[in-house]
Amino acid sequence: MTVHHVAIIGAGIAGLNVALALARRGISSDVFEQAEALDEVGAGLQISPNAARCLEQVGVLHRIESQWREPREVTLASGISLRRITGLPVGEARSRWDAPYGVLHRATLQTALKQAVSEEPLATLRLGHRIVSPDMATIAAAGHRKPDAVICADGVWSASRRHIAGAPKARFSGNIAWRFVVSAEDTPAFLSREHVTAFMGPSAHLVAYPLRDVSGFNLVAIAAGASPGETWDGKAGHSWQVARNEYFGGWNPALQKLFSKAAPAVWPLYEVADGRWHNGADTIMIGDALHAMMPFSAQGAAMAIEDGFELAAFLAEMPVSDAFSAFEAHRRPRLERLRKRTSLNRFAYHARGPLRFGRDAVLTMRSPDSLARELDWLYGYEAYGFGRN
Ligand SMILES: Cc1cc2nc3c(=O)[nH]c(=O)nc-3n(C[C@H](O)[C@H](O)[C@H](O)COP(=O)(O)OP(=O)(O)OC[C@H]3O[C@@H](n4cnc5c(N)ncnc54)[C@H](O)[C@@H]3O)c2cc1C
Repeated sequence: MTVHHVAIIGAGIAGLNVALALARRGISSDVFEQAEALDEVGAGLQISPNAARCLEQVGVLHRIESQWREPREVTLASGISLRRITGLPVGEARSRWDAPYGVLHRATLQTALKQAVSEEPLATLRLGHRIVSPDMATIAAAGHRKPDAVICADGVWSASRRHIAGAPKARFSGNIAWRFVVSAEDTPAFLSREHVTAFMGPSAHLVAYPLRDVSGFNLVAIAAGASPGETWDGKAGHSWQVARNEYFGGWNPALQKLFSKAAPAVWPLYEVADGRWHNGADTIMIGDALHAMMPFSAQGAAMAIEDGFELAAFLAEMPVSDAFSAFEAHRRPRLERLRKRTSLNRFAYHARGPLRFGRDAVLTMRSPDSLARELDWLYGYEAYGFGRN
């Protein structure tokens, strides 16, 4: 083994997971996180079977399974009539894709990852360490040891990305997510407790699912809006009022009533476009820093988890720069295919005018099995290095 020690910048889902994946292969790491404590930022997450399978391999799945819910279906419904249009049978995930499909609060996953890292002798979490320049001298000083490689997992607004020539840039997508949690008592009966439901309307959609770990309902509304800047802590205030009138004004009164109870947080949706993944020597990006995408496939965290699992497998097998090239060659086609799928979902979810009726007619005719088959490549994926230590 030529790689013994790695520095990881960022203790989000990507950073904590890659530390565990490296440890599983005998590689130690320092994880530098700017925050003094890992706070409970975020809202609900859907964890699809491709990610669940990697989490199982790094010893985290059993920590979250007792706290999440496994929905029976991802339902597509009209935001105007509330009519079910079709549904993806994710309740069959364990038999069809050999791993579960679960929903939980992001904080639950992050806490489970953090606990696993704290119990792992090969991984050291260093809170309160902001690294803006990921050069070896800075990192060696911060970690008291020179790493063989640096993994930048510092999220969509990554500062370390600037140090990789030709790296992709973050770009505002023009869309905003407003995220809120409604308590179990305030949840109306028409919202299914057993499904993830995506309500679709012209140029907007709303995803709703129950969270067992916070005993409430996670709601995410997405439509066009102006970015409040690079923050996920913003109060929605004015932007949400504008969106409610402009995009959700014609929606079903039952959903409008639900919105009146909401005090959402605003999440500007940035995308990280294509560019160089690494510097050809010792530094590479993973997770949102590398490929933040719109949440129309609910795969951002899943891809961050797969990234870490596969990168660790390559690093355990070959010298660093060869491992980076092999990782990129292996993962690029999958990420490109996912981007195409996400664009298609975006087009379908936000269709307007006659396109909307065409979409509904086509989707109504699709059997659940044919919808599931179309996602076998995504959910049934076995990551590189799966089952091998
Ligand atoms: C509305 C919405 C819904 C979503 N739903 C889903 C879903 O259902 N399923 C799914 O798989 N994905 C979903 N995602 C995507 C998912 O949340 C992200 O892709 C994922 O959290 C990215 O993880 P990350 O670790 O790469 O980045 P982050 O979570 O952003 O973590 C980056 C970490 O790096 C730290 N950091 C930043 N800069 C520095 C620095 N200079 N020095 C040290 N530390 C630093 C930060 O403090 C942070 O802890 C959704 C996203 C949105 C916006």
